[in-house]
Amino acid sequence: NKPPVSVLGLGMMGSALAAAFLKAGHPVTVWNRSAAKTGPLVAQGALPATTAAEAVTESPLVVLCLLTNDNVEKLFATLPDAVAGKTLVNLTNGTPAQARDLAAWAAKHGARYIDGGIVAVPQMIAGPHAYVLYSGDEQAYETHRPTLAALGGTKWTGTDPGLAALHDLALLTGMYGMVLGVMQAFALVRTENIPATEFSELLVPWISAMLGGAPEWAEAIDSGGHLTDVSSIAVNHAAFPNFLAAFRDQGVRTDLFEPFQAILDRAMAEGYEADGLSRIADLLRVRG
Ligand code: NDP
Repeated sequence: NKPPVSVLGLGMMGSALAAAFLKAGHPVTVWNRSAAKTGPLVAQGALPATTAAEAVTESPLVVLCLLTNDNVEKLFATLPDAVAGKTLVNLTNGTPAQARDLAAWAAKHGARYIDGGIVAVPQMIAGPHAYVLYSGDEQAYETHRPTLAALGGTKWTGTDPGLAALHDLALLTGMYGMVLGVMQAFALVRTENIPATEFSELLVPWISAMLGGAPEWAEAIDSGGHLTDVSSIAVNHAAFPNFLAAFRDQGVRTDLFEPFQAILDRAMAEGYEADGLSRIADLLRVRG
């Protein structure tokens, strides 16, 4: 007999989470602000709760997946008496600071708090490539890890409740940077009517090869030894005006890439011309 779980928030992601718990054999209680979304899960065997408080009462483990942590904070405020003794696992996307605030609220009301970041889209949940980052109450995490494993891999990031969100946002930051570069490249080739599909055959192996160098950057960043014999700040600084000029000549916006020129200028001004691009991670830190 598997332990019961309650899932609060049945959007695209919350519905996938609840379905995965059901499929793994857990009794699942579901609640959603718009009650109609409980329908498909009830058809799969879930018990519908009419209020969030009722759903929380049904299980020792409560998984939340709302749109924002602002929604979670407001929902928590309606549940102060229901949460004592419960483990709250909040898988809503948010910031480290929000996670720490929610953890403090939970502690004040006698609940255990785990924050999480889902590294998957709903269709991937319970599949081989999905995993979830967790941080916060480690004892509660160890207790409920076998249940949480129904969603996919489990990756513990530390007892500071903000660490799962930090890792999650950092992963997505890398993704968004890649998306911006790829979109700029497509926009540039389209100015000469080169099919994006044709260009992507060149772009994908190139980006993949470049990403293969990330572990070397990582070593330089951890050690602080940025000197390179591959591609120096000076070389990139000399070439970069060509990019901005070509964007202008071809009729592509420059605003996404102008900040990169500024940071290369700053790296040169601060004397880092012989360093590799890994120096940029250091220059991006706001210094107090
Ligand atoms: P949806 O828009 O499909 O669902 C949003 C959910 O939040 C619904 O259940 C909605 O209820 C609920 N909600 C919104 N506002 C409130 C409120 N004020 N009070 C109570 N409930 C509220 O989003 P997803 O399910 O896709 O995403 C949910 C979370 O998961 C987000 O934080 C997202 O960033 C994260 N996530 C999503 C991924 C994805 O690929 N979809 C991937 C990784 C993380 P109602 O039905 O009543 O509107």
